Amino acid sequence: MIIGKIALAGNPNVGKSTVFNALTGMKQHTGNWSGKTVGIAEGTFRRRGKEIKLIDLPGTYSLTTDSAEEEVTRDFLCFEKFDGAVVVCDACCLERNLIFAIQVAQLVPKTILCVNMMDDARRKGIEIDIEALSRETGLPAVGISAANYEGLDALEEMIIDMLEEKMSTEFIPVRYPRAIEAAAKELLPVMKEQYGFGGIYPALRLLENEHGFVSAVENRFGKFGANEKMSTTLEKAERIMTENGIKEKMVGDKIAACSVLRAEEICLSTVKMSTEKALSRDKKIDSVLTGKWLGIPVMLLLFGFVFWLTVSGANYPSAMLSEASEVIGGWLEKGLSAIVCPPVLKELLIDGIWKVLGWVVAVMLPPMAIFFPLFTILEDTGYLPRVAFNLDKGFKSAGACGKQALTMCMGLGCGAVGVTGARIIDSPRERLIAIITNSFIPCNGRLPAIIALITMFFTDSSVLGAAMLTGVIALSVLMTLGVSKLLSKTVLKGVPASFTLELPPYRMPKIGRVVVRSVFDRTLKILGRAVLVAVPAGVVIWLCSNFLIEGETLLQKAAGFLDPFAGFFGLDGNVLCGFILSIPANEIALPIMAMGYSGGELAQLGSMAETAALFAANGFTAVTALCTIVFFLFHWPCATTVITIWKETKSIKWVFLSAAVPLLTGLGLCFGINIVSKLFF
Ligand code: GDP
Repeated sequence: MIIGKIALAGNPNVGKSTVFNALTGMKQHTGNWSGKTVGIAEGTFRRRGKEIKLIDLPGTYSLTTDSAEEEVTRDFLCFEKFDGAVVVCDACCLERNLIFAIQVAQLVPKTILCVNMMDDARRKGIEIDIEALSRETGLPAVGISAANYEGLDALEEMIIDMLEEKMSTEFIPVRYPRAIEAAAKELLPVMKEQYGFGGIYPALRLLENEHGFVSAVENRFGKFGANEKMSTTLEKAERIMTENGIKEKMVGDKIAACSVLRAEEICLSTVKMSTEKALSRDKKIDSVLTGKWLGIPVMLLLFGFVFWLTVSGANYPSAMLSEASEVIGGWLEKGLSAIVCPPVLKELLIDGIWKVLGWVVAVMLPPMAIFFPLFTILEDTGYLPRVAFNLDKGFKSAGACGKQALTMCMGLGCGAVGVTGARIIDSPRERLIAIITNSFIPCNGRLPAIIALITMFFTDSSVLGAAMLTGVIALSVLMTLGVSKLLSKTVLKGVPASFTLELPPYRMPKIGRVVVRSVFDRTLKILGRAVLVAVPAGVVIWLCSNFLIEGETLLQKAAGFLDPFAGFFGLDGNVLCGFILSIPANEIALPIMAMGYSGGELAQLGSMAETAALFAANGFTAVTALCTIVFFLFHWPCATTVITIWKETKSIKWVFLSAAVPLLTGLGLCFGINIVSKLFF
């Protein structure tokens, strides 16, 4: 039975999701940058035979601003029913974290201070006296290192003790100017009586007339004006302040200053910094990775290196998997013959389902299994926000937001994740730009297909392949910037909102967790999806390539019909069929094309070299390959992404635009390439 419900709160990037995952065994996304947790996640843990529910709230710096995530957290803490809170703090910047912790303690009567990243702090020469912290605040406190599973037992014990009221959680109040305290004292009992609020936090927000909070309360409980007791008390509180020379405008600043001072005081007696060396180390690294001259070239080299490892590492296992799938296919065929399976069913199972499945696994698994761990390492070290920093200027001049670079990075994994991730962008206009251009970045369904086409038609040198792939990604970034600019000058007019991009400290990635996360959360999940789609697709494709009309298969007929149109864009009807039939998932586009060319004779669908020969025999040239790569980059988003765009925007117009913009871009570019190739070759 669940004995209590605990909210996990904290500033962004303090390791809240790591704590949540470590306690509940769940797999919330973690990574070294701010703004990953955009929704609420729930999980439970058990200890001493008791079950406790944990709620992971989006990270926020304060409860007083009104960005989407901050609202979610504030509304939960203010208006939901729960039994206590754990505020996760980063040991390396405790003072800043305490300002938020103080707000939570002023709102939630049972609050625990959980100081995470103690290992990082030790490395940086920062010492934290946890007992003193508890003494100075009056709150239970615990030091942990969630990534190393250190101190989690103590945290669990503390949560249970707090729920069972075996320890004091009396927060030693912040002192405010006397008039503010007197005014708050008037408001407190009335707020408690009328709305059920506990701590001083809501009273302070009303005194400073904080717009976001006032409207949140009025939306739930009705206008203050309509509540006589509330409005007379508010008037009285205001009078107390004005009589003492405190104008409403000054209240917010005074309250904030007191919290800052209090956090500083607490840290004075709890934190000892023996050296600034870690900070200066980060600064030195940043002077290269985000430097004016070096930032972008180093970024290109770094991604080039990641792509090189992906391309060069993928070939060998790809060939092995394809051989293995052929051998197993042979066994299956023999097995089916042995049980006297009808020939049509046997062909459907082997040539349809098994071959498509084998192809998808052989082509997709190796590059993903290499790329995702490398990408996760970049994410964990804290490099991704530096990418956003390097591209920030470009995005600003395109009328968009630098954080779009982060949503693009998420899109490299999955388009739908990139679309949801756009919630980290506060301005709705800039969020829409990020959503509409999100499918410009190839997701994991398209990236391996692009790698396969490069290997099959352009170069078998992994260095050149990686350079070409880096060029392809650079093209998608450039087009994202160009089209973002176009959108911000037309349908999404406006100036870029200013925001501060936070650069997190560099951290050593935890290799074990990186592997687990990239293999289980990303690679296997995506592969599972690909397999799920490949099986029914295999059936449909087999039917299309075996069902004859006037001596031609259905796929060939459709391809023939589309051929003249596709020809304008350097493609052919079969390629276009592949793209259209892969609307459910991009992963199956290339196998469909291969099946189309083989006309149902799937024996040739084997290694990359065999597939390349099959394509070439059907008139697929280097120009067709280039146009296909470009069309892989820019066409419509897959069905899952379309549904996600609808969920995020709730507007047919934006869904339509999100499909039309990449399509028109792709068709335009392919048309251009085709014309140029006709003129010069
Ligand atoms: P959230 O934004 O608060 O949910 O933070 P995450 O859980 O995503 O963690 C942010 C980063 O800090 C990730 O790169 C984690 O691997 C890292 N991290 C989390 N806990 C610890 C810790 O105890 N020690 C160290 N060194 N890193 C940690």
